[in-house]
Amino acid sequence: MQFLKVKKLEHDDTHMRITWNDGKVCSYDLLELRKDCPCANCRGGHGTHTTRTTDNIQTIRLLGWKTVGRYALQFTWSDGHDLGMYTMDNLRERCENQ
Ligand SMILES: [Zn+2]
Repeated sequence: MQFLKVKKLEHDDTHMRITWNDGKVCSYDLLELRKDCPCANCRGGHGTHTTRTTDNIQTIRLLGWKTVGRYALQFTWSDGHDLGMYTMDNLRERCENQ
């Protein structure tokens, strides 16, 4: 089995597009991704809360990104946040479910 890798990542003010190493192309809404940030901070703590600290975000832009090890991507957002690690599996899954 080959590892899922990002071959190409492009983005504009609202969306990002990932071309995977197996040729599949996925498009993501930046705001949606930002709101779904998987870090503990954004999830609002220890799972007992239903509100997220990202609920109030209205607009977001992507300033940068990097890969973390083999398995995740880390994004730098225009609100200064860069803690969330989005696993490639999760990103790919999102895309398959669109
Ligand atoms: Zn976060």
